[in-house]
Amino acid sequence: MPADLAALLYLASAVLFILALRGLSNPESARLGNIFGMLGMAVAILTTVLGARTAAYGEMALALAAGGAVGLVIAFRIKMAAMPQLVAAFHSLVGLAAVLVAAAAFYHPAAYGIVDALGQIRTSSRVEMSLGVVIGAVTFTGSIVAFTRLQGIIPGDPVVFRGQHALNVVIGVIIVLLLGTFVHTPSTDVFWVVTLLALVLGVTLVAPIGGADMPVVISMLNSYSGWAAAGIGFTLENSALIVTGALVGSSGAILSYIMCRAMNRSFLSVILGGFGGEAAGQAVRAADRAVTAGSAEDAAFILKNASSVIIVPGYGMAVAQAQHAVRELADALKRRGVRVAYAIHPVAGRMPGHMNVLLAEANVPYDEVFALEQIDSEFQATDVAYVIGANDITNPAARDDPSSPIYGMPILDVDRAKTVLFVKRSLAPGYAGIDNALFYKPNTMMLFGDAKKMTEEIVKAL
Ligand code: NDP
Repeated sequence: MPADLAALLYLASAVLFILALRGLSNPESARLGNIFGMLGMAVAILTTVLGARTAAYGEMALALAAGGAVGLVIAFRIKMAAMPQLVAAFHSLVGLAAVLVAAAAFYHPAAYGIVDALGQIRTSSRVEMSLGVVIGAVTFTGSIVAFTRLQGIIPGDPVVFRGQHALNVVIGVIIVLLLGTFVHTPSTDVFWVVTLLALVLGVTLVAPIGGADMPVVISMLNSYSGWAAAGIGFTLENSALIVTGALVGSSGAILSYIMCRAMNRSFLSVILGGFGGEAAGQAVRAADRAVTAGSAEDAAFILKNASSVIIVPGYGMAVAQAQHAVRELADALKRRGVRVAYAIHPVAGRMPGHMNVLLAEANVPYDEVFALEQIDSEFQATDVAYVIGANDITNPAARDDPSSPIYGMPILDVDRAKTVLFVKRSLAPGYAGIDNALFYKPNTMMLFGDAKKMTEEIVKAL
């Protein structure tokens, strides 16, 4: 394929990726955004295969078929509730790919066309390679820590130890110094020592972040994986990869910033690894305090007499796949003339936009769905807050108790509604591992049970 045509097609794929990001920024246009993204990826893959400097089409077809088949199986089998760990696992593969491409280019620079007249790796390529391998290795191990934590293989609590920041700084400084020597005189030993140190840094950066701060880690690794891909793009001299990597890197960075704002955390302290984690792992329980428990019939009675209801979904709704039942409940209430709205907290669930996706799947009208800042002031004029499988995002301790590990995180002020109907299976804490003062408030009625089953029973009782 002529180089000009390849450049044009890569440009087209970059435009399609930008349109995809734009589409994905709104639930109404998200499907179209996905289609643009798929088209962009198809154009990029075809251009890469047809424009390859090798004629090893058999190997490429095999790799595409194997990767595509694995992707297809995962896409069909993955549960919505397991999406975040899947995303973390995919990020780790991007990081690993960056390290492997950098290593391949280091050992066979001529095959990558990155040698100068003397047969040495060009200085600019040494810089690109160094950045690719460091960001890739940090992304690889950092994403594995995030994956194992989200999958429940290791506890969700942050791993905090004395001197962790000093250790990160020391590792970071050694990496920078070694990279300086590598760029000057590329050596195999330095390449692998830097890779090893970056792999360790990935663990020491992510391990201290846990509990309610995990959303920031996910978006941060998203950003790192983008920059790692852009690094590979420079080594491979592939403009589509550079542009796509930069898009993912910068959109991930913007998302991290938005998440930090949502959690009321400082962006810089996240980048440096671990913040506020010292107390976040403490599981504070107060199980011996009294709660008011009710049945589906009690809830139906309260809802029947309400004139306004705000539904607050959380991770438990995703686990129970209760979104369709919730929609039925809203429909039943609306038929009775009750005003219904949905309140979405930015970190509800286990990934950004998790609740929006589920509600969209159940065809909940977009104009009934409101973000925290749009709806929070409405709770005090609302009869019933129907909290379904949400926990941390409603915990008044974040607002009222300066000693709480989640103090400062904005919450949905559901406790200001006249009555709170709280659907969950037990008094167990949410992801942050802390007790929720809302369970014990006089205006709260606990509806113990599976979110889907309980909601269906309420609909029946209505
Ligand atoms: P939480 O994790 O705080 O609470 C979810 C609640 O759902 C649990 O307390 C659980 O209680 C209940 N639950 C689980 N399964 C069911 C079920 N089948 N039926 C009914 N209830 C169920 O979720 P929130 O959405 O309130 O908050 C999100 C938390 O996750 C925040 O701490 C956030 O920081 C963190 N997080 C968010 C990410 C994101 O990007 N959005 C990523 C990673 C972490 P019980 O067991 O008693 O039923």
